[in-house]
Amino acid sequence: MTVKDLADKLELKAKDVLKKLIERRMMMTINTTLDTETATMVAREFGADVEMRSFEEEILEVESSAAQEGDQVTRAPVVTVMGHVDHGKTTLLDAIRHSRVAEREAGGITQHIGAYSVEINNRRIVFLDTPGHEAFTLMRARGARVTDIVVLVVAADDGVMPQTREAIDHAKAANVPLIVAINKIDKANANPERVKTELSELGLTPEDWGGHTVTVEVSAKKQTNLELLLEMILLVTELGELKANPKRGAFGSVLEAKIDRGRGPIATILVKDGTLRIGDNFIAGSIVGKVRALIDDRGNKQEEAGPSSPIEVLGLTGLPQPGDTFQVVADASKARQISMLRQNQAKQKSLGEKGGRLTLESLQQQIDEGETKELPIIVKADVQGSAEVLADALGKLGDERVKVRLISSGAGAINEGDIVFAAASNAVIIGFNVRPDRNAAAMAEREEIDIRLHRIIYDVTDEIKKAMAGLLEPTVKEIQVGAAEVREVFKVPKFGAAAGCLVTEGKITRAGGIQARLLRDHVVIHEGRIGSLRRFKDDVGEVKNGLDCGIAFERYADIKAGDIIEVFTQEKVAATV
Ligand code: GDP
Repeated sequence: MTVKDLADKLELKAKDVLKKLIERRMMMTINTTLDTETATMVAREFGADVEMRSFEEEILEVESSAAQEGDQVTRAPVVTVMGHVDHGKTTLLDAIRHSRVAEREAGGITQHIGAYSVEINNRRIVFLDTPGHEAFTLMRARGARVTDIVVLVVAADDGVMPQTREAIDHAKAANVPLIVAINKIDKANANPERVKTELSELGLTPEDWGGHTVTVEVSAKKQTNLELLLEMILLVTELGELKANPKRGAFGSVLEAKIDRGRGPIATILVKDGTLRIGDNFIAGSIVGKVRALIDDRGNKQEEAGPSSPIEVLGLTGLPQPGDTFQVVADASKARQISMLRQNQAKQKSLGEKGGRLTLESLQQQIDEGETKELPIIVKADVQGSAEVLADALGKLGDERVKVRLISSGAGAINEGDIVFAAASNAVIIGFNVRPDRNAAAMAEREEIDIRLHRIIYDVTDEIKKAMAGLLEPTVKEIQVGAAEVREVFKVPKFGAAAGCLVTEGKITRAGGIQARLLRDHVVIHEGRIGSLRRFKDDVGEVKNGLDCGIAFERYADIKAGDIIEVFTQEKVAATV
């Protein structure tokens, strides 16, 4: 703020503020911009309380405080459909849409804008049209809370499958209520009772069995019980009392954004609160705009869109990202200023400025600063059995200051989905005998997700205990030197087996301190040292990327074509606390 701004806020004359500054040997005019330190000092000298707030926060707060408490109305629930592949998510979404939206109304063309709304008993329900966990978690990772309720689709002929469990984990982590649609009950081999048993085993005991989970048996194909499902959605969300204020300026999330050849950038917005009108200035992520046209999910032009409305917005100056916040700002120049601020922040972040991610090393500090009371963890292990053992062991850790919160555990390599999930939940990932695949490793680096890789359960629990106590020793950081893919395997006398390999990353070397591991489907099969490295018939010290070579492990011979050999060194890194 300038000297004048500060004087206005303090209800003083600018010359009194200037005088105070001159006493401090600061020569300024009324239009000089003060840094926060100086402004704070002056304000305190005049006996004012000082609270820091960013310009952005202030603008957004002013926009939202215009609304009156009494203008609140009930808004429609927003539903995401999740479940295992082929259990009928898409079919269900289409069936609901067709049973509720007359074909004629949509002009014979099914308009897909990322969401649609249906009406039942004079109430509306909004469905997000992109089923699956990725979309859900991606939105959450960007801080968008869009979904009010998850409909978990489980096929009655197939039962609970890995992605069913995953969906449950995601809904739980997001603290979103869930109801189960047991689908495909028209099939001869449908067994809804089995699904209910499996749900009970996961702690989702159905209501008709005395539990709290609402289940509805449906057939998306035959359109059976769809109405009942919709009624249940209303019932469950009514308990949550979803409120919004149509009189305030619109606020919401970007669901999708694309460039249309004729019409320029278009974003599908879910208006969460307030009403969006033609002519409104807005900011979506770091993109500004002025609403030129609004088109609803049936392809009709609208003048305005109220709470819980999915709507296409024309009039953007660029493409926002899915999950970005959308907010009407009364003053176009302020919208531009916020946009610039956000673009600068994004730039600084990409320049490597440290984010607020939870890491094991920063855990203690975050507890001390009152920023966290729990340690969210995602466990990935080579087999389901060890994931369960580990989950159990970790669940027992914790004291009155901090608790371990296991948000998911499963078998398989650490993939991009896990990284997005960790980012959304600010979690640490523990890999037990598994490693991140290449894309996941790169993404984890970008998102600054702490991944801990171990091969012994004791090491995992020990590390977590130490992190909780703030006693984490300097960590050993692994430095990847190279990787090679095994093409064929030969029997050799001294080592038992040697692998004919192609070096695919970095270089393979036998230098001192170098260790090697053998991976099969991202699972660590063996760790040890390289016994022999050859190029053609000659022993060599190193082989570079793109070249063939022969590799044998010391005292290990179970190598198969398709395995990956990684070589690495370890380096101690001081803890950041
Ligand atoms: P998604 O992967 O979960 O989106 O599953 P889809 O909606 O693509 O459905 C997978 C398959 O199951 C398709 O062949 C559907 O026709 C079929 N399907 C979906 N719902 C039902 C149902 O209620 N009954 C029967 N018999 N088949 C269904």
